[in-house]
Amino acid sequence: MGDLSRQDEIDTIAEEAKRCRKCGLWKTRRNAVPGEGNPNSPVVLVGEAPGYWEDMKGRPFVGAAGKILDEILERINLPRANVYTTNVLKCRPPGNRDPRVAEVEACAPYLDRQLEVIRPRFVVTLGRHSTAYVFSRIGLKSSGITKVRGRIFPADLWDSKVSVLPTFHPAAALYNIQLREELEKDFELLKSELDRMGNPG
Ligand code: URA
Ligand code: SF4
Repeated sequence: MGDLSRQDEIDTIAEEAKRCRKCGLWKTRRNAVPGEGNPNSPVVLVGEAPGYWEDMKGRPFVGAAGKILDEILERINLPRANVYTTNVLKCRPPGNRDPRVAEVEACAPYLDRQLEVIRPRFVVTLGRHSTAYVFSRIGLKSSGITKVRGRIFPADLWDSKVSVLPTFHPAAALYNIQLREELEKDFELLKSELDRMGNPG
């Protein structure tokens, strides 16, 4: 990591993403959303892509899905500021359409670099897109979010041990009580793993 602090390294990645034109999404973005939070956290949350409000503000999970995420983190006494939150795509796809393969290929190196700098103990993947991408990085194939969610997948990334925990996307829990309960349960598993490590988060 040289002489730079983790925060400096993370800031450098963010500055690159903000002026990035590696895929077509730069044309329609208002703001890139590189990610934010504590780069020294043992936990990184990975979403899919910025939505309307994220694009407006340049910050991850600040819309309706973000509100759910905050409520769920509150239940386990893990303030959002204590974790690092980011997305696979750093720019909003028009109309919130699904990410395209070429966009993920162009953009995911930013996520890879963020994870390499932070080296978290836990990577929580929110929804099927981020789960599919992170699984591909650890040599696994996701058999579908409902099948893999709520389980810890141990992996080696950058010579560090990491636990990947896939769960539902918070937006999916907006109008679905059952998904919301399962999302809460998955974050309780994260909490108990953090407690087991003796880490208050
Ligand atoms: N949905 C995501 O996947 N990421 C965000 O930052 C906001 C909504
Ligand atoms: Fe660059 Fe990613 Fe934005 Fe595409 S989505 S322009 S690769 S930062």
